[in-house]
Formats: sequence, structure tokens, C-alpha cells
Amino acid sequence: MFDCYKEFGIRDSVLKLGEKTEKELAERFAAIDTNAELCQMKVLRAMQKNRVSEGCMEASTGYGYNDLGRETLEAVYADVFKTEDALVRSQITCGTHALALTLSANLRPGDEILSPVGKPYDTLESVIGIKDAPGSLKEFGISYRQVDLLPDGGFDFDGIRASINEKTKLVEIQRSRGYSERPTLSVAKIGELISFIKGIKPDVICMVDNCYGEFTEPIEPTEVGADLCVGSLIKNPGGGLAPSGGYIVGKKAYIEQCAYRLTSPGLGKEVGASLGLNRNFFQGLFFAPTVTAGALKGAIFAARLYEQLGFPVHPNGTESRHDIIQAVTLGSAEALIAFCKGIQAAAPVDSHVTPEPWAMPGYSSEVIMAAGAFYQGSSIELSADGPLIEPYRVYFQGGLTWYHAKLGILMSLEGLAKAGCIDL
Ligand SMILES: *Cc1c(COP(=O)(O)O)cnc(C)c1O
Repeated sequence: MFDCYKEFGIRDSVLKLGEKTEKELAERFAAIDTNAELCQMKVLRAMQKNRVSEGCMEASTGYGYNDLGRETLEAVYADVFKTEDALVRSQITCGTHALALTLSANLRPGDEILSPVGKPYDTLESVIGIKDAPGSLKEFGISYRQVDLLPDGGFDFDGIRASINEKTKLVEIQRSRGYSERPTLSVAKIGELISFIKGIKPDVICMVDNCYGEFTEPIEPTEVGADLCVGSLIKNPGGGLAPSGGYIVGKKAYIEQCAYRLTSPGLGKEVGASLGLNRNFFQGLFFAPTVTAGALKGAIFAARLYEQLGFPVHPNGTESRHDIIQAVTLGSAEALIAFCKGIQAAAPVDSHVTPEPWAMPGYSSEVIMAAGAFYQGSSIELSADGPLIEPYRVYFQGGLTWYHAKLGILMSLEGLAKAGCIDL
């Protein structure tokens, strides 16, 4: 086995540390496999129940009326997430779009959004109008309030109670930590928060930004009271096969609003040609539980490896996981660059290119990104990025297979060793 990894230029000491670490993780990996098995059965049951058939793989064009595949896919998603309805479309361009769509469809002038878990994902700042942006919800008279998590990561229940008022129409709960310091929320924790909020105002819409969380646990937030769950198809639920798209699942009345906003009042879900993508969406969903399991194993493997070498990692190598994101604080620009180059060199696509730090719009410092993906920006595929600024933290996620995630992480370590950032 070592010989085959040596063909990638990985030294013995890195391989030995990797082997030892993988052995130590056997029990955790078994638990991840058990979760994937449960999720796989859930997806299969939903596909069988809704009679997914060969005809569902056909493409519709033009208006896309009577698209059997699209309608069946949405019924399958609704069953997987245990909701009344679903909107799963390639016309939803990304996760931010899915979230913006859900908010703008279900809010009206005078309404207020509450985030009880601190600042939402960066791109939502423009959507909500936390940062002034043309077309923001703020321009339409929709206000926003936020209650930060407590220093220990817990909910500020008093603060939340004090912030819910007659205008509060929708509560936005982000499951994953995204790229911030806060902890990722387990489904159980989300359930606790929703119960508390509904206890104060039963008719408030509880919406969960589910990005990166899908299939990391046997149940989803819609099973613990969330009225809506929203995510991207180039993350977990697309299984690496969805080339684009987003999903929204939840109560029928709210999904209908989303459909009227996505297409047009009066048309709603009835239009939207699938253009031949149904097969990718079905097959991607079918693979999603195992793909997510591979990404989870990669994240934990990296956490344990880098932790042993003295690097701060979030989450750490032993805590439970509710998303696929791993942060490693590398402490120097050289280490961050070496890490990303290692990930890139392990990629199936563009392994021959070298990522370089770059001044990206919207960032205050240069950023380096590694992605050798079949689909542009697909972050269920092995990818890493980090700003070149103290504390030189890299965020990485994905890996369509555990073996590829493993190779990427070993290559990152080899990169650090070669650059003299670690002694191995
Ligand atoms: C990825 C992500 C989004 C949406 O990002 P897109 O790049 O627009 O798909 C929103 N919230 C969280 C927590 C995310 O991880």
C-alpha cells in the first residue's frame, strides 16, 4: 500500500503517521458508516415509495410542463426530509440563491428576521441588508435582528426571548459553522432552539440553513420542528453528481411561496425545464449518504493528524460532527500555501496547476484556494481555502470518496514537510 502512495511523492514518515491515525479512528469510522447506512436506506425507501422509474430520467424542455422526473424528485426530497413539499431545481443557482429565495418569498414589508445563532453566512449579509446592497431585503422594508451565541457556544435564551416581537416573522438558524468561530449545531440542538422559539411565538417560521449538514446525522432539522430547510446541490445532497442547483424542503404553504418567487406568481412549480439533469439529481441523492461519509472521515482524519502535530483544529479530533467542514490553524503563510498546494496536487482534475494567493473581491486580504473539481466550485469535492492573514487558518471540506480525501490530506502533510513547516 505504501508503494502506491509513494508514487505521489509522499514520504514514509507521513504514511506511517497516516496509517497509525487511521487505525486509531476505526471506531469513529464505523459509526460514520452506520449513519451512512441509515441515510442510504432512508433515500432508497423514498425512491421506492415514489416509484422512481426510467421515465423520470427523461429531459423536459421549454416550459417544462408535466416533468415526471422533476415532480418525482421533489416528492423524494420531501420524503427524505419528512416534509410536506420540496422545491429542487437547477434554476436555483447556488446555496445563497436558495436562501435568498426562501427569505424573499416568505417575507413581506414590515416583517422581521431573527438570527438567534449570531451572524449568518457571509453572502447573506448582502441578501438581508446587514451590509448595504442593491436589492437587499432591507430595501423592501424587511428588518433584521441577531442574537449572538454565548461565549461557551450555547444559546442566549434570554436574549432570544427579548428579541422576538410582533414583527418577527421568520427565524433563520444556520446549522453549520460555515467559516466562523461558532460551533456547528447538532439536529438535537436545533430542535431544542426551535421548541423554545415556538413556545414564545408558535406561528414564527423556523428556517434552517442546512448547507454542509445533510446526511451527517440520521435525521434532518425538519424532523425536529424546522418549517423549512435550505441547501445547495453542489454540497452534500447532490452527491457530487448534481452539476448545479439548490433545494428547499418544508411546509407546503411556504414551498409554494418559494415556487411563485422562483418562477412567477400563477406558475409556481408547474414550470422549469429539467433539461436532462434529473438523472444527475436522482443518482447524486442516491450517492449522497456515502459521499458525505467519505467527507466526514476525511475531516476527522485531518483533525486527528494535524492535532497530533500541534496545530489547533476545529472541530477537534474527538468531538461529534454535524457538518463536513474542517478548520486547521496553520500559523504561517508558508504552511497555508503548502497545505493548499498539497490538496490541489491530489485532485482528479487540474492536479498539474499550482494554486497561488490572490486578491479576491470582497476579501480584505489575499486568499488561496485549492479545488480540482469536476464541477466548478463544488465543495462536496475535496477543496480548501484560507485567507493569508493571521492566524493562517485553512478551511477544507469534501472528498467524493474517503480514499481521495485521505490522499489529499496526506499530500497536504507532505507539502508541509517539504516546506519545512513540520518535522517529519
Ligand atoms: C455554502 C453555504 C451557503 C451558500 O453558499 P453558496 O456558495 O452560495 O452555495 C450558505 N450557508 C452556509 C452555511 C454554507 O456553507
